[in-house]
Amino acid sequence: ALGIPEKTVRSVCAYCGVGCEIDVGVKDDKIVGIHPMQNAPVNKGHLCVKGRYAWEYVYANDRITQPMIRRQHHWENVTWKQAIDYCAQKLISMVSEHGPDSIGMIGSARATNEDNYCIQKFARTVIGTNNVDNCARVCHQPTAKAMTMVLGTGAATNSYDDIEKAATILVAGANTTESHPVIGARIKQAVLKGAKLIVIDPRKTELATYATCHLQLKPGTNIPLFNAMANVIVTEKLYDETFIVNRTEGWELFKEFIREWTPERAAKICRIQPRLIRDAARLFAKRSPGICFHGLGLTEHTQGTENVIALVNLALLTGNIGKPGTGINPLRGQNNVQGAAAMGCDPSVFTGMASVKNERQRFEVFWNTALPEGKGLNLPEMLDAAVAGRLHAMWITGYDVFFTMPDANHTKQAFDKLELVIVQDMFMNETAEQFADVFLPCASSFEREGTFMNAERRIQKVRKVIPPPPGVKPDWEIVCNMAAAMGKSEYLSYSTAEDIWNEIRAIWSQVYGITYERLEKGGIQWPCSATSHPGTPILHTETFPREGGKAKLSAIEFKPTPEQAAISYPFILITGRELYHFNAGTMTYRTANKEICQSDQLHLNPIDASIIGLKAGDSVRVISKYGETTLPVYIDADLRKGEVFSTFNNDQVFLNKITNPARDNYVQTPEYKITAVKIEKV
Ligand code: SF4
Repeated sequence: ALGIPEKTVRSVCAYCGVGCEIDVGVKDDKIVGIHPMQNAPVNKGHLCVKGRYAWEYVYANDRITQPMIRRQHHWENVTWKQAIDYCAQKLISMVSEHGPDSIGMIGSARATNEDNYCIQKFARTVIGTNNVDNCARVCHQPTAKAMTMVLGTGAATNSYDDIEKAATILVAGANTTESHPVIGARIKQAVLKGAKLIVIDPRKTELATYATCHLQLKPGTNIPLFNAMANVIVTEKLYDETFIVNRTEGWELFKEFIREWTPERAAKICRIQPRLIRDAARLFAKRSPGICFHGLGLTEHTQGTENVIALVNLALLTGNIGKPGTGINPLRGQNNVQGAAAMGCDPSVFTGMASVKNERQRFEVFWNTALPEGKGLNLPEMLDAAVAGRLHAMWITGYDVFFTMPDANHTKQAFDKLELVIVQDMFMNETAEQFADVFLPCASSFEREGTFMNAERRIQKVRKVIPPPPGVKPDWEIVCNMAAAMGKSEYLSYSTAEDIWNEIRAIWSQVYGITYERLEKGGIQWPCSATSHPGTPILHTETFPREGGKAKLSAIEFKPTPEQAAISYPFILITGRELYHFNAGTMTYRTANKEICQSDQLHLNPIDASIIGLKAGDSVRVISKYGETTLPVYIDADLRKGEVFSTFNNDQVFLNKITNPARDNYVQTPEYKITAVKIEKV
């Protein structure tokens, strides 16, 4: 009905960090369909239901195509010049009155690398603050921290093509069938061809039905489990001694520490059988090569960073790093979350993960200006600073902060105190609707040039498939216009996205070899420091980028989260994703996927449901210490008694009114995966 395409344009999916390549069919400058790119290295001719069908949001009736300023509670359409001048004047006066650190900027995991580079450069050069962050803070920042600490770099060590080379695949805290479907399908295919699968998840996910070992642990007990697996590997001498001696440090201390973590001790904490822990440890250690994938089930905990370190220990003990079919591979949620962080939308690093503490002078020379000293505020710290009256303005790009941060009451308190909130997005998201003073409409990923970086470090070309609606601009152009209006165009003045990418290449040597010209032929994995370099599918093949060149085995103590079930809140709520919707629902709820899946639902075990007197479709009130919400019931035998599950995509449900705001010990990622709740029939 939409017509036969006149042409197809190759680009990258707008959703998750798998980074599937797509052929977009276009007729009369309109998208008429999307197909998987047949020879794409990542998706190999496949796409999931989001990437293939959920693109109609581009044409949604409520797409905003003109800048707006809210005056006396009413939105007024204004010209770009009026909107930019209004923001510029406010930002200039705030810097002069309260100092540059009174302003915070948030980059976007679904904007391009070029956009995110400009956002962080604007914060540092035009405003003069390191208060810049992105949504990795609420997902994989613990992974980046953990892997940097023990391996020397925070990026995935291997490639998706290692799935088919692995003899054993370990998936921890990731529901790939729903969240990263193309990777889920590749893992299942590998299992059907003979690979063994270990799944570590409190829910019996669809992937778990393919597993040789499913460790259905109590939420928040990953460290005891990983430690006990390490105990088995050490006590049964299943470790790779050559690898440990030549490539790691900390072995003697680790060996001593791990003796206490017997499977029996861990089994009581994890509420699983010791035999299962032994089986999983033996399988992973004996059947190599073994590859690890993990998701937010590891990171969104108070010990999120430590969870990842404990997983890395298993890979190091068994020598499963730096070789084909091995590695630690975080499954990234959004398509460019890795890129947003790598571009420097992070309060403690510049572009290329260069430390703010150690590399400020190099960037001062490159950007030809003095830069702020010391780490800036991350997103949760910005909200705290707003509540405390120290942060006065936020400029947020492509991220519905109010809807997605836990404990929405706290987020509301923060936004209520801010004097200026600028939201840059395609739609009037919850943050914009409730709190924004200015709305700046930006182009979708089909309407601009640039690059994305997927979860396996592959930089891929995003192509302008269709023109943006009149009045809508790419994010980088808006940032450049703001810099000019503030009298600082010397820092941000580019004609094309390629100009920006070339500046990134000049300051980050590991992507120097990746030119737009080369990307026309296909994505390239960094490190790639010369234009003749083919890219790097596997990291750490000979040495680790740490002092001494060795990875670190680390003794990780278990500190249980204070958020435990009790008489007043007897259930543990786990949050996660489902196939048809994506995060805040900003895009998928504006597509036909809404017809297939109309709401978040509270999944609960049939025994719990019968005790409370609930049946499928009943409405329940779910109450935590932080708030309450109402949603329909879904009976789900794949959950254990006492544990319930919900997605967080629907604005009517607004699940983050009730989620737990406790934060990771190192990088302040919220503990979305554990909230104690009670349930009442409505
Ligand atoms: Fe898009 Fe991810 Fe689905 Fe691939 S798996 S089509 S990248 S949402």
